[in-house]
Amino acid sequence: MTEQQQQNRLMLGAAETKKLLEEAGIPFVATRLAKTKREAASLSREIGFPVVLKIVSPDIVHKSDVGGVKVGLANTAQVLKAYSEIVANVRSSFPGARIEGIAVQHMARPGVEVIIGMSEDAQFGPFIMFGLGGIWVEALKDVAFRLVPVTARDAAEMVREIKGFDILRGYRGQEPVDIAFLEKLIVKVSGFIERNPRVRELDINPLITYGDRAVAVDARIIVEPYAPP
Ligand code: ADP
Ligand code: MG
Repeated sequence: MTEQQQQNRLMLGAAETKKLLEEAGIPFVATRLAKTKREAASLSREIGFPVVLKIVSPDIVHKSDVGGVKVGLANTAQVLKAYSEIVANVRSSFPGARIEGIAVQHMARPGVEVIIGMSEDAQFGPFIMFGLGGIWVEALKDVAFRLVPVTARDAAEMVREIKGFDILRGYRGQEPVDIAFLEKLIVKVSGFIERNPRVRELDINPLITYGDRAVAVDARIIVEPYAPP
C-alpha cells in the first residue's frame, strides 16, 4: 500500500457503522450519542439501566486502553460520574483527541465474546476472520480465516476449527452458544464485504453470543473514500 492510499483510509463514525451492520443483518446493541452529561443521563433512562458509556472519537481506536469505556452503570449518579471520568481519562491520555460525544449503550448481559473481522491479503484479496473475542484474541491467537465469499459450509468449518470451539459448545456448564446463528452472521459479514468493495477493513469485537442470539457491542469499519477523478 502506498502512503497516499494509507492516508486515504477513513474510519467510519460510530452511528454509520452501526447502521451499516444492522442493514447487513447484524444485530447491534441499542446505542445513542450524548453530547452532554445531562443528555447522557436522560438517554440512560430511556435505554434502561444498566448501561455502558464509551468515548466516541475519530482519533481513538482502542477505547478501553485510554479509560474510555465504563460498563455496568446502574443509575443516574453512576452515569454522571462515569461521563466525567471518561472525558478526564481521554484528555489526559490523548490530549489532542477530538471528542464527538459519549455513546450510551444498553449493557448486554454476559455471554461468549467473539470477533468477526475482515482484512485484505495483497495477493488473494479480502478474507474473513473468526475467533474468540476480547482479551482472548491477543492471548490465544486462536482464529480461523476464509477468503470472501464465505459459504455456509466455510462458516461451519471456521467455527469448528478454533481451539475454543468447546467454549462455544458450553464449557463447564456455561450456556452453549447458538452456533447456527453465529455461522449465519459470518456469512452475512462476507456478503456485506462483497457488496461494499470500498470497505477495506472491518472488526466486530466483541459480538456477544448467547444460546438464542448474538449482539455486536463494538465495531470498526475502515473505508477507502472515492478516488478523485
Ligand atoms: P474497545 O474495544 O475500543 O476497547 P469496547 O466497546 O469493545 O471498547 O469495550 C470493551 C469491552 O467492554 C468489550 O470487549 C466488552 O467486554 C465490554 N462492553 C463494551 N460494551 C458493552 C455493552 N454494551 N454491553 C456489555 N459489555 C460491553
Ligand atoms: Mg472492542
